Amino acid sequence: MKRCTKAVIYKDNLEYNIKQILNVLKPGTKLCIAVKADSYGHNAILTSQIAQKLGVEYLAIATVDEGIELRKAGIKANLLLLSLCIPDEFTELFEYDITPLVFGKEYIKLFSDVADSYYKNDKKLNVQLAVDTGMGRIGCYPEEAGEEAVLINSSNHLKLSGMCTHFAVSDSLAEKNQDFTKEQYKAFVNAVNYVKDKGIDPGVCSCAASAAILNNPDMHFDMVRSGIITYGYYPDEITKEYLTKIHKDFDIKPVLAFQTQVVAIRPFPKGKSVSYGRTYICKKDTDIAVLPVGYADGLLRRFSPGLEVTINGKNYPVCGRICMDQCMVDIGKNNPDVKLWDKVLIFGPKESGALNDAEALAKLGNTISYEVLTSLTKRVERVIE
Ligand SMILES: *Cc1c(COP(=O)(O)O)cnc(C)c1O
Repeated sequence: MKRCTKAVIYKDNLEYNIKQILNVLKPGTKLCIAVKADSYGHNAILTSQIAQKLGVEYLAIATVDEGIELRKAGIKANLLLLSLCIPDEFTELFEYDITPLVFGKEYIKLFSDVADSYYKNDKKLNVQLAVDTGMGRIGCYPEEAGEEAVLINSSNHLKLSGMCTHFAVSDSLAEKNQDFTKEQYKAFVNAVNYVKDKGIDPGVCSCAASAAILNNPDMHFDMVRSGIITYGYYPDEITKEYLTKIHKDFDIKPVLAFQTQVVAIRPFPKGKSVSYGRTYICKKDTDIAVLPVGYADGLLRRFSPGLEVTINGKNYPVCGRICMDQCMVDIGKNNPDVKLWDKVLIFGPKESGALNDAEALAKLGNTISYEVLTSLTKRVERVIE
């Protein structure tokens, strides 16, 4: 693909971030990297290869198809499926050795029956028991964990290989939210103990995602599940500034640069309007640069007005509505710094020349960096730098 609108993946930054995360773990704590949603838009195969090279043992996916893609690319790490799949997909879990999260007596029984009819030998599939300690999403309640673990391990072809829970507000510094996280943690410890009380090894237990990895080192358990920080962004209030304040030495760099090129520069007289809805009227004679990028690429329509893009080290405002495939930038009259075909950075790491990161766009669009990153669509080619 030769299209100029693309996402450049700074491989060295990805490696740097993973090393930074490994650095904050106690010896023996395992790392699971979330490569779901194509690694938050960063190319799951590349991320998985780098993670494997650095000794990361677990990768987290959200769909069975994501797991199959990684297996077909030769990824050998444990694949942990964080979302539930439907019975039609069960045999693919066996075929590709994907570890699902299970809970609920009916689901476990159904899963166990399908496993019985699939396996012709005495092989067992690793499964993890999901516990809902307060996220309000998936999982059994802590007091059900013991019985459900018994059900799993009494199955012919399933083996409990771990337990996990997920925090709802660990990315907030408000005292009541930090207290809630502590309650969730305690409930999870109880759930693990209920399983042990049944004489069952709970396996590799995990609860911390990015926020708790950084802010709750006492909650790392056997493994942590790192998502957004892998890709160079901080989870909400657990920012670089906050970590510096609590004397925590941690540094990450954005990995992805979203870029395009100037494909036209047109003179606009005072009073002429730009784009749909005529929301932008030129206040004086100016030049408008046209960019071949729009909301169908993931440049959300709500970013304008407000969005500025970087051309040759300077920011210029996107003007008028962002269209599906194009948008316009007011570069001012006869600007010697902007020429046809110049590179334009929408966001990215410093190395890319961008002055904005995905966090800045997120603020502008009233969302989070996670959504800005995963909004980049398929037609934006990922190029490895
Ligand atoms: C996505 C996800 C993670 C990673 O979250 P980050 O905040 O990006 O670190 C961890 N655990 C579960 C269950 C998830 O769904």
